[in-house]
Amino acid sequence: MLARNTSETTRRISPRWLLAAAAIVVIGFTAICGSVLLSMRRGDEKLAHQTLGNLASSIDADIARNIELYDLSLRNVVGNMTEPALVEISRPMRQLILFDHAATARHFGAIQVTDVAGNVTLDSSTLDPKPQNFADEEFFKVHKRDPLFGLYISAPTLHQGSYGIVLSRRIAARDGTFLGIVAGFIRYSYFHEISDRLQLEPNDLISVVRQDGVLIMRSPFDMAIIGRDLSRVPAVQKALAYFSGSHIGNSAVDGVQRLYVWREGSHPLIVMVGRSTDVIFGQWRKEALQIGGAMGALGLIACALMLILAREMGKRGEMEDRMARLAMTDGLTGLANRRHFDVVMDNEWQRAQRARAPISLLMIDADHFKTFNDNFGHQAGDLVLCGIAWSIARHAKRASDCAARYGGEEFALILPGLSLADAIELGERIRIEVGHLERDGMTTTTISVGAACLVPSSMTTSNDLINNADSALYTAKAHGRNRTWPAAPRQKSLAA
Ligand code: GH3
Ligand code: MG
Ligand code: MG
Repeated sequence: MLARNTSETTRRISPRWLLAAAAIVVIGFTAICGSVLLSMRRGDEKLAHQTLGNLASSIDADIARNIELYDLSLRNVVGNMTEPALVEISRPMRQLILFDHAATARHFGAIQVTDVAGNVTLDSSTLDPKPQNFADEEFFKVHKRDPLFGLYISAPTLHQGSYGIVLSRRIAARDGTFLGIVAGFIRYSYFHEISDRLQLEPNDLISVVRQDGVLIMRSPFDMAIIGRDLSRVPAVQKALAYFSGSHIGNSAVDGVQRLYVWREGSHPLIVMVGRSTDVIFGQWRKEALQIGGAMGALGLIACALMLILAREMGKRGEMEDRMARLAMTDGLTGLANRRHFDVVMDNEWQRAQRARAPISLLMIDADHFKTFNDNFGHQAGDLVLCGIAWSIARHAKRASDCAARYGGEEFALILPGLSLADAIELGERIRIEVGHLERDGMTTTTISVGAACLVPSSMTTSNDLINNADSALYTAKAHGRNRTWPAAPRQKSLAA
């Protein structure tokens, strides 16, 4: 009998690996999707920066141009007021020299000149100005106090019958002595007109602040906060510190979160434009929700499919294992079948060869079993075979021991590492136990055992061990059965 190497290794994809791979794929897709969405968001934010920046620049340029024009008129007054010849010419002539047409522009008020005490002495709109005194006004006090102050822009104030900002300059004699001020006025209507001609989004905000943080103008217009010091508001704080920049924050007035952008201006006012983040990212949020939702749903479906697949693979694996076990098991006794015996014998032989260790084998055969079958029937015979198998399995205690049904009423027990003496002793224990097995109070059958042991060498094969054990079994039969017989050279019987 030749031992056959049927050792096969089947590579199987573990369901766990499959799930891990699925998780990696889903995470990868989520990361890619997330990065695409983030870059879309950054794109929208960049576009908003550009749009708001351009808006701030154009408003800033408009205000700068008008303030500059108006300031030129004020400078003209300051320059000419100290001309000695001015007192000698007629009043209408003086009006013509001092005031150009700037003061007649639509949103600009009359330019007025005061004396050192703050009394209005000249007015571009009339030859006969009505009595007025600016001594208590901040724009008068500033110039009186500080000879170096150039153009002063007042906080929003009620002046010449309407709201607006006063632009003023100091008039001084050649030796620097304070002679009074010249003050002009820009009405709010000017700022209203700017915001009206722009195409703005809902919740857009335009703020014009002075260098000290005082709010000069706001669109949408809100009288309650115009003129307030906003220097502590984070966005304004940043705008005062950096020439141009941006800030995202919640408005203290309406609670709306906005992106504020401001640009470097050439005049003493800073223009800030704010746009609600809901408007900036509204479209993006909608798309992100759609794409994210679709990706999430696809991810969930993929996970569910993978779970189902992994479960099916697990079941199939278990089934294959069971089939493999069944293919190696004897159906009647539950012992290893002949094929399994061959595999184990081959493996254990090689292992013993490497370890130069002994390997023993018991061949066990039921005595006169044909007669037993004839007497008690085949089914009773099967039960007896199961009893013999049970006893053999009970004695195969170590993990490397292998009890097998070799064929018909013949069994084999591989005992790696066991000496012949120990194998004979074990065979005897099995033989005695089987002899005492009873069925319905009757002793059933006896067995004969052939025992062999070899230390594998280059001269021997596992077939030699099987043949030796077979011969010993034959000798046991020949010597009267119901005994254990060792393989040659020890040919001594251990009869019951
Ligand atoms: P010996 O002592 O010389 O071994 O005599 P024996 O009758 O046991 O040997 P023989 O080879 O003449 O007969 C073997 C018998 O074992 C024949 C067959 O009916 C019986 N047998 C083989 N397999 C089975 C089985 O699965 N179930 C049953 N009940 N009997 C079996
Ligand atoms: Mg027999
Ligand atoms: Mg037989």
